[in-house]
Parts: sequence; structure tokens; C-alpha cells
Amino acid sequence: MVYFLNETEQKFLTLNLRPKIRQNPVPDELRGWNWHSPPLKPYYDIRLPMYIICSQYCPTRRDVYFALVEKAKKEENFRITLGRKVHDAICNAINEAKKGNFDADPPSCGNEAISSAVRAVWEYTISLCRSAYLKMRAEQSHAKDEDVVLTSIPFLVEHRMDGSLLGCSGIIAVDCYDYMRNIVFDVKVGDFNPNSRLYTTGYALVLESLYEIPVDIGCVVAISFGEKMTISKDIHYIDANLRSWWIEERDRKAEIVFNEIDPGKAESCNEFCLFRSICL
Ligand code: SF4
Repeated sequence: MVYFLNETEQKFLTLNLRPKIRQNPVPDELRGWNWHSPPLKPYYDIRLPMYIICSQYCPTRRDVYFALVEKAKKEENFRITLGRKVHDAICNAINEAKKGNFDADPPSCGNEAISSAVRAVWEYTISLCRSAYLKMRAEQSHAKDEDVVLTSIPFLVEHRMDGSLLGCSGIIAVDCYDYMRNIVFDVKVGDFNPNSRLYTTGYALVLESLYEIPVDIGCVVAISFGEKMTISKDIHYIDANLRSWWIEERDRKAEIVFNEIDPGKAESCNEFCLFRSICL
């Protein structure tokens, strides 16, 4: 399932990643609960959306200038619409499953390619939630139904959080937080990109700033839709390097917005940049 780990992934987590993390813990100054001290303390009095901090589309970060200084309108393309609908489908399927509505239908979308992707991810998600629920119910026959749901589908999806302590927007939504295994997930539609680890890092820092619990493990779930839907997971340690990188990105982008700096055109641009028509 999008957020359930399979047996191999669970073994990797238990026998490889968690022992390594215990040997090499995150320095305390890079924990989100130290938001009031450098280096986590925001240097500029600016609040940035998480996608602005983490997106790596533009080599010069001119996309940040357009989005937050010029307040230019983005042109939503097929990729963005597909990503949004897939995220909505996963979130709604899990929420329906938690209510016991395992037969709920996926929402219809106008575009056939998007509808087919939404159907695929919906059926996959809801059927695996059902399987996890039925397995747990059979094994915990004395548990209350609410407990069975909360432990078999232990996911806070699109969980809203206030990121302002760390210089992020007042409301940000993490794709999924598994509160039983303490893992933060980010879903990407398309091929895996190592830059996506910045998102899990940002969400982990915000969780730490709010709840004062350590969040060490992130997982980027890459979903592709070709002839068949394929899903791959990148389970990783949200280590000191990732945390420092996230802080650098936040401060670099906050400086652009605070001082209204136009960083200029990049030499090579991402073909999917949403500002191509006004920038190039
Ligand atoms: S078109 Fe190129 S330079 Fe302009 S914002 Fe997009 S990636 Fe950056």
C-alpha cells in the first residue's frame, strides 16, 4: 500500500536503518523543538509555504521570486493536475476506509488519463486498508472496532500543522504521518527524485517543533502511471545533512522574498517550470 511497508521494507527499517540512527543520532540543535535558537531560528520574518522551500525546479530560485514577490499566476499543467488528484484520491480512500466504507467509489475526473490513474490508486489503497483491517480484526477479536481501525490504518493523512515556528506557512499539510511507526511520508507522482527528501525533512522538523517528539524516518513514495501503476519507496534517515540543507533552502528563499531580489534567469530550465511563459 502507498503507506504500508512490505516485509522487506520493514526488515530494512528494523535491522538496518533504526540501528544506524541509534548509533549516529541527530544533534539536538537540529531538532525542530529548537526552533527558537540558531540554526533553526528563522533569520527573516517571513513565512514560506513548504513547497516553496523544498521545490528544486529552478537553479537560481527565480520561481520563488515570481511566486511570492511578483505574485505571478502559475499555469497548472497536466502533471500538476494529475499529482493533485492522486493525492486527493489517496487521502479520501484512507478516510473512507477508516469509516468502514470499503466499497466507496473513487471520485470521477473529467480527463480519462487522470480518471484511470485515480481509479488505480483508489482501488489499490482501499483494498489494502480493508485487508489490514480484516487481518487485525481477526487477530484482536476482543479489541473495540475503533481500536482496530486506529491500529490497522495508523495514518494521519493531509494532517494540517502550523509551521510558523520554523518560518513556514501557518497551515501546511503533511501527506501522511504514521503515528505507530513514527514515519513521515511524502507522495510524488513520477520518477523518484532525491530532492524529494527535503519535503519529508521539512515535515519532520515541523512535527518536532509542535509535538516535541523526535521524527527520524522519512519515506518518499514515487507513483508512476504507465501501462501499469508502479510504486517505489525511498525510506531514509532524516539526518543532520538533510536538516541543514532544508534550513539553507529556507533561509536562501526567505532572503529572496524579504529583500525582493530577482535572482535572474537560469542557464538551464526545468521543462515543467510553471513560470516559463513569463520568465523565458
Ligand atoms: S523559466 Fe527557468 S529561470 Fe525562469 S523560473 Fe523557471 S526554471 Fe527558473
